[in-house]
Amino acid sequence: MTAYDILVIGGGPAGMAAALGAKKAGAERVLLTERLDTLGGILNQCVHTGFGLIYYGEELTGVEYAARFKEEIKNSGVDVLTGTTVVHLREDGSALLSGPSCGLLAVRAKAVILASGCRERPIGALSVSGTRPSGIFSAGMAQKMINLGGYDIGNQFVILGSGDVGMIMARQLTQMGKNVLAVIEKEAVCGGLARNKIQCLDAYRIPLKTRCTVSRIHGIGRISGVTVRDLENGREHFLACDTLITSVGLIPERELSEEASNGGALPEWLFLCGNACYVHDLVDDVTVEAFQTGRQAAAFAQSGFARFARGEEVENLKKYGGSGIFCIACPKACPLTKTKDGYSGALCGRKDPIPSGSEPQGFSRDIAT
Ligand SMILES: Cc1cc2nc3c(=O)[nH]c(=O)nc-3n(C[C@H](O)[C@H](O)[C@H](O)COP(=O)(O)OP(=O)(O)OC[C@H]3O[C@@H](n4cnc5c(N)ncnc54)[C@H](O)[C@@H]3O)c2cc1C
Repeated sequence: MTAYDILVIGGGPAGMAAALGAKKAGAERVLLTERLDTLGGILNQCVHTGFGLIYYGEELTGVEYAARFKEEIKNSGVDVLTGTTVVHLREDGSALLSGPSCGLLAVRAKAVILASGCRERPIGALSVSGTRPSGIFSAGMAQKMINLGGYDIGNQFVILGSGDVGMIMARQLTQMGKNVLAVIEKEAVCGGLARNKIQCLDAYRIPLKTRCTVSRIHGIGRISGVTVRDLENGREHFLACDTLITSVGLIPERELSEEASNGGALPEWLFLCGNACYVHDLVDDVTVEAFQTGRQAAAFAQSGFARFARGEEVENLKKYGGSGIFCIACPKACPLTKTKDGYSGALCGRKDPIPSGSEPQGFSRDIAT
């Protein structure tokens, strides 16, 4: 049994920030484990910009954002095991790791941080009738196949669900010269961030069909089309396509915490952060919360009591996050200040930084604590 102060499960942005937070708060032996061959999590497949506006005050791609943290981890003294999956987390706090570099390794840590991210809801979880041909992908899988695998996955796309990942893929596919016929959303409003609707759908004139759903899938071998149902009047029409992308929700990945709590309350040595805790829209929020989780876990490992310890990441938020309200007129998303006459602070100096009829994008966070 190898002993550590802190074991971090998952090497995405949450796991990396939590490991750094724990180390900075004085934990001596910190082990960061990641089941893939590299740290970075979902960010490694995000080649679009929109990361780091609040935390760094810069607009980075997901890959660039992850690279900054990988560099910090390298110089931090945190032990890293990539290609290593935590397969068990027991009630007594011991964990079993498995991977080619460590074989089967038993670890006991004084505190464990679960930062295992989330998974996508699959098409099988929806009540959609018809066949199950090839050409149906979840948005994250499509993103991975295109950006990391270099695959050409189709030409005529329908996107079911207006979550952020689906809208980001709609934009990327259009930029690649593909035809995105429609984004189909069952609710009356778009499911993702307003900024993504403006930048990804409206800017590329991709139709968003609200109060509609896909009720049937057609095709033998490869998908040939979908039936779209209008939920207001029940009318249906056929839409020919060769690829269906689903963006219908993310589910926190926390089976290990269920094993550790064995049907009871979460053990006091177990901390959750990032998308494993709840699904976050912005990586900047993931980072700040995970730093604090790392500090709390370090305090618990030292004293058996999880104190809240505020760190420099909160200062970053104050510096770049400002009021926590951002202009959504263009991808720069400048921080805004509320004045008695409206809002000011957009870099382009427009009189009205908010497109008329829309609200500024606000992020709910208490940066004073
Ligand atoms: C397509 C997409 C686009 C996005 N766009 C933006 C954007 O423009 N701007 C923005 O700010 N945010 C964006 N986000 C949100 C942000 O990227 C996520 O909220 C963030 O990546 C979540 O971080 P995480 O560390 O919790 O999870 P992840 O990044 O998913 O990392 C979890 C890691 O844990 C590992 N893991 C899981 N189980 C185990 C185990 N048992 N053992 C070992 N390792 C394990 C996984 O392999 C994974 O690497 C986007 C997200 C997605 C999916």
